Amino acid sequence: MSGEAKPILVIGGGIAGITAAVEAAEVGYQVILVEKDAFLGGRVMRSYKYFPKMCPPTCGFEINTRRLRRNSRITVHTLATVEQVSGKAGDFKVKIKKRPRYVTGACSLDDSIAEQLTSERPDDLNLGMGTTKALYYPHDMAFPPLHMLDRDALSESDAQTLTKVAPAGAIDLTMTDEEIEVDVGAIIVATGWRPYDATKLDNLGFGQCENVVTNVMMERIADPRGPTGGKIVRPSDGAPAVNVAFVQCAGSRDENHLPYCSAVCCMASLKQARYLREHNEAARATIFYIDIRTIGRLEKFYYNLLADANVAFVKGKVAKITEDPGSKDLILDVEDTIAGHKPEQKFDMVILATGIVPNTVDVKIPFELEYDEYGFIDGATDVEGIYAAGCAKHPCDVSRAAKESTAAALKAIQCVNRG
Ligand SMILES: Cc1cc2nc3c(=O)[nH]c(=O)nc-3n(C[C@H](O)[C@H](O)[C@H](O)COP(=O)(O)OP(=O)(O)OC[C@H]3O[C@@H](n4cnc5c(N)ncnc54)[C@H](O)[C@@H]3O)c2cc1C
Repeated sequence: MSGEAKPILVIGGGIAGITAAVEAAEVGYQVILVEKDAFLGGRVMRSYKYFPKMCPPTCGFEINTRRLRRNSRITVHTLATVEQVSGKAGDFKVKIKKRPRYVTGACSLDDSIAEQLTSERPDDLNLGMGTTKALYYPHDMAFPPLHMLDRDALSESDAQTLTKVAPAGAIDLTMTDEEIEVDVGAIIVATGWRPYDATKLDNLGFGQCENVVTNVMMERIADPRGPTGGKIVRPSDGAPAVNVAFVQCAGSRDENHLPYCSAVCCMASLKQARYLREHNEAARATIFYIDIRTIGRLEKFYYNLLADANVAFVKGKVAKITEDPGSKDLILDVEDTIAGHKPEQKFDMVILATGIVPNTVDVKIPFELEYDEYGFIDGATDVEGIYAAGCAKHPCDVSRAAKESTAAALKAIQCVNRG
């Protein structure tokens, strides 16, 4: 049956999309995986470690890249987006646009070539904290294992340098957009999420107070591959962040911002309090919360932190964050609703636990699909032949994203078999 079936298209190469692709391909189905970035892995690749096991994302990713590599039934298109979808379940026609990488892959490049360039660009793996050269290798585990050239950032003199120093055929500055048309039988949408824009939280000081950062920034700061080499330090002066506040529901469960719970922010802050404590045994974390939600039976992770005398939990919603102009310390306006008083505390650094916004808020799938009022693809109203998985559907952790994408792969297989 699988030999005659049309391929399955997977849009989005994060953990949900990769899982759907390998699961479908390993039972014999052709899969086309389309990812808009230069490499696969999505948001998880931008984490330092992931709960509950606290292993680096590269562990799971290594297994997945092995599965991708050894399966000839999967075609991966990076730097690619779906521009048009027409047809119906069992018979979709899809137009894919691929942006140029300017790196051919015909021969390998080494970092000494990039080092000869002066043109730089914001380091998007590190969320703009720091820069890379215009020619860069996205990260140690990049898949596909190719450099990327940011043509817009490359100066004319660096373009000339490249023609001299790069091996012949390795770089092609004449590459242009490419359009591909494919026929597929079913589509899995795994386009994931982006963080809520913390600059919209005027009261919480992001963008105004230097030492207020977000939870996604903290993932990069704690990571040895990150902008500070893994040192948890204050952006204002590079001093170790010893006394750190975590502000839960920063915009989430708030009618003015994201009315829903993002499901993972409590666990993310608990995990980051562990980063802090493992990094510096004198460090103290104070977590300001409405209530702690360890969704997915992960209470033990929370109980372990409760036993740590250097981690305090304060039930109270932070109303305002201001900065001491001299020290750049942060002053929180918050009432401890259990103790019934306002603690007078200053912190070295504050981490805002901002929530999850579906990428489909910004870019819709070019086909008539139902979205809920927040932009997530509403699973209850699936169009036949198109199935959503992971954070495209709702906020969720990796374990749930992987299970749902396996389920979506099964639905897609049933669909292509019906023809
Ligand atoms: C601060 C924080 C820490 C977290 N830590 C953990 C943790 O420790 N453990 C855990 O289990 N979970 C954690 N999570 C949740 C975890 O990040 C998600 O479960 C996971 O990212 C979901 O994967 P996904 O594939 O659905 O989405 P994503 O990771 O967002 O991947 C989506 C992919 O689709 C691509 N894409 C988007 N739009 C398009 C398009 N139009 N065309 C083509 N490609 C597109 C994106 O570039 C991306 O590669 C954390 C979340 C936060 C906020």
